[in-house]
Amino acid sequence: MEMSCEKIEKMLVDYADEQLSPGDSKKVAEHLEKCEHCQKILEALQRSLELSGVIWEDGLKETKEIRATIQQKARNIHWPGYAAAAAGIILLLTTSILWRALVRPVEKEINFADIERRITEAGNAARLLAATELLAEYPNAQTIVKQQYRYIVETYPETTSAKKAKLKIQ
Ligand SMILES: [Zn+2]
Repeated sequence: MEMSCEKIEKMLVDYADEQLSPGDSKKVAEHLEKCEHCQKILEALQRSLELSGVIWEDGLKETKEIRATIQQKARNIHWPGYAAAAAGIILLLTTSILWRALVRPVEKEINFADIERRITEAGNAARLLAATELLAEYPNAQTIVKQQYRYIVETYPETTSAKKAKLKIQ
């Protein structure tokens, strides 16, 4: 019996992925020979599968590059012990920004300038916060310390350091 386009369409993903049984695969192939509508769907499907494969591979490559950049930056900075932990958080944050960008097809253009800016901001904020916390140990410096926390909150609002600084001045 002839299968409907609707039924064939549902099998096309598995067909393109070679996951169908030989019997089903033959039925789909026979239908495709006669049906231009389903041929077009299959073509579009294969293109999108190829594209997602390319994005996936690019993503892996870029992740490695970004990791290397951050690790390099972290090595070049004389971090107080506290800030070294912050660098780990920045790395996690950046990786998650990248993956979110990858799985959202509409925004698959990864904005590296923006990621770079966020890394720099997060790094600056973490260093300022670490410095301010050291300063906070001196009773005479409390006015400057408060100004400093406020500066972090206002200048780097998107960072985790800003959230921490905010708690200090509340
Ligand atoms: Zn069809």
